[in-house]
Amino acid sequence: MDTPPPKMDTPPPKAVYFHFRFKFLAITSIAFLIYLLTSTAELQEFTSSFQFQLMGPFFMLSGLFFLIFRRVPIRCPYCNKLMSTKKDWTCCECGKSQGKLRHLIDKCVHCRQVQATGQCEHCNSTYRL
Ligand SMILES: [Zn+2]
Ligand SMILES: [Zn+2]
Repeated sequence: MDTPPPKMDTPPPKAVYFHFRFKFLAITSIAFLIYLLTSTAELQEFTSSFQFQLMGPFFMLSGLFFLIFRRVPIRCPYCNKLMSTKKDWTCCECGKSQGKLRHLIDKCVHCRQVQATGQCEHCNSTYRL
């Protein structure tokens, strides 16, 4: 099941933009925070402002999106079939399987590496996450 490391002259595997979802969420959250912190000058003013009241719902929504994003299946860029983001995946760094169902956003239980690539269970293609 081991795939050889990609050589310099081979094109990189196609991406499924899995990590991009979370980057997008993080950037949106930071942008919103900056907007909140720069919109009112005084703290006293800030805590009674409309923006402050938005913070609770906003962070609840962000948390909800995070939970949804880690569950939304990814589509294989090669065979177009949907793959679950929660499975017993094999680590792209140490090559060991996780031994239980885990989300692809989680770190490897053996080497604590964030997964950069994954493998399609339908067509065995390697893709970037
Ligand atoms: Zn596939
Ligand atoms: Zn590992």
